[in-house]
Amino acid sequence: MVMRFALKKILRKFLLFNRTLITIVVLLTVTTVNANSFFQKIQRSEKLMDTFFNITVYTDKPEMAEISITEAFNEIRKIESELNIYNEDSELSRLNKNKILKSPSADLKINIDRSLYYSNLSDGAFDITVQPILDLYKRSFSEKNFAPSGETISEELKKVDYKRVIAKDQEIKIGDDQRITLGGIAKGYAVEKAVEILKRHNITMALVDASGNMRALGKKHEGVWNVAMADPRDMNNYIAIIPLDNNAVSTSGDYERYFDDKMEYHHIINPKTGFSATELISATIVTDNAFDADALSTAVFVLGKEKGMDLIESLPGVEGLIITREREVLRSSGFKENKDNK
Ligand code: ADP
Ligand code: MG
Repeated sequence: MVMRFALKKILRKFLLFNRTLITIVVLLTVTTVNANSFFQKIQRSEKLMDTFFNITVYTDKPEMAEISITEAFNEIRKIESELNIYNEDSELSRLNKNKILKSPSADLKINIDRSLYYSNLSDGAFDITVQPILDLYKRSFSEKNFAPSGETISEELKKVDYKRVIAKDQEIKIGDDQRITLGGIAKGYAVEKAVEILKRHNITMALVDASGNMRALGKKHEGVWNVAMADPRDMNNYIAIIPLDNNAVSTSGDYERYFDDKMEYHHIINPKTGFSATELISATIVTDNAFDADALSTAVFVLGKEKGMDLIESLPGVEGLIITREREVLRSSGFKENKDNK
């Protein structure tokens, strides 16, 4: 524990916001594959999209599995090259710079469309135009080691409004003062695309994980994946064991990337106030795909306890677990847990 925090501090000092994630929110615990001795476990990991992607496959055709994993990583790399704002040449960076982008890639268009869908659904809690606020935090903490003033936050908040993002098939436009981030949704999308590729290669047992955005592929008779959701304030403990059966889990938390020791300024912004959302310390979503799970976990984190749980309960096929700053743990009505493993 001590080591972990020490390392975290050092990393934060040098890399601040754009640091590598070292806290794994959801840990893989148990995998039960039918006692089939021909099944081999193949696992590969790569740092992509500012996080670690892990692909685990159980297979009786290891050569084919290796090929499919390579293809899946190629796909994630392609998505990164389009959507990463830390790469100046990416399509998304060009849109942020020029405010207009002709003939967007299918990946960019679908991510923006889905983001706008979730903005409407969450009454603006999910809003990809929060990037100017994040840039302000980053500037303020790295240059002055100080929180930005209320006035500077209000000034940047004028730039935040998803309704000014216009996405058409042939052209995407944002306001002249706006910049967008797909950090709350694109990792889930990439996980889902990777799973599609594995499926196309007839892989039937796999887990794709991008630091807390996970999607399992597995036939029930071959066993289910169980993932442990770690306690956000004590990674040695876990809150729940979540069984995954061909579905996805995503967790958003304040502890993943933050600027100050109290974690009052972190990477998930409440677009109504310009401050980081602080009602919850984590929001976990379970649903059938990683794309929606990722967006929804960010949206619910911003919405907080009541509105967040109302949103989860209003959506069929969506379950969730949220933890408040006061350490209250709330589960949605159909939230599945594997109590035998606890
Ligand atoms: P992580 O990327 O650490 O897994 P999330 O999925 O919750 O966590 O996404 C957080 C990222 O989402 C931020 O780094 C930022 O890029 C973006 N973001 C921050 N606030 C919002 C918001 N209100 N709506 C949509 N995206 C947001
Ligand atoms: Mg998210």
